[in-house]
Amino acid sequence: MTAAAKQPNRDPSLAPLRGQLAALTRLLHRERILNYSGHASVRIPGRDAFLIQSLYESRAKVSPDSLIAVDFDCNVIDGPDGFEPPREVRIHAEILRARADVEAVVHTHSELAAAFTMVEGVELRLMKSHAVRWKSGIPIHPDPSHIMTPEQGRELADTLGPHQGALLRAHGGVLVAESVPALLIDAVHFDENARAQLQAAAIGRLKPLTEAELELLASRSNRDQHVSKLWSYYLAAGMDSGIIPRDWNELL
Ligand SMILES: [Zn+2]
Repeated sequence: MTAAAKQPNRDPSLAPLRGQLAALTRLLHRERILNYSGHASVRIPGRDAFLIQSLYESRAKVSPDSLIAVDFDCNVIDGPDGFEPPREVRIHAEILRARADVEAVVHTHSELAAAFTMVEGVELRLMKSHAVRWKSGIPIHPDPSHIMTPEQGRELADTLGPHQGALLRAHGGVLVAESVPALLIDAVHFDENARAQLQAAAIGRLKPLTEAELELLASRSNRDQHVSKLWSYYLAAGMDSGIIPRDWNELL
């Protein structure tokens, strides 16, 4: 991980991805799914590289121009002077390397989701309709330490396997998606589902979605339309509240 290989490469074609990733980071911070830790990334099309925020920048302040480009060995290949990748950047590098079908990754430090790795005999279940996204399963990565090395990153990618999300024991979670807008919606629904389980458990015995119900939901879902609707909703809410500058509209 070195800045020595840095080569300024402000490719204008990446402006929309930069805008989307900065907006997602600020919005997930507002939702408390990211806090002082956690980060999101997006693959740079056609390259073994991705955009991600830098180590010390607040999730509330990330901007399109402050994002850095990092290769799969975690060398910074484009970014402001002195900007380093986050300490857990290997999560993104190794998942993007292992999963050609994935364009965007978020690592959360969601307190709510992590709680489901801390209770004996209780698993996170699929409760709300949008949790159909995780119908193949939500594995739990057993290593509670931060993911700092390539080997740890590969181990986490192995735990994730072909699934769309995983929990990290006593730590947080990872989610993967086909685009930045889809990743935002998944991150929101993942926490919604965890909250739904908590609320339902307070009322009575849990009744998670059945296999038949999940099949029905999968057959009737229009993911692209749903992502488009919620992305517009969250962007508008972010702009109304001042979290996202209105002039980012040109990028998004
Ligand atoms: Zn972490």
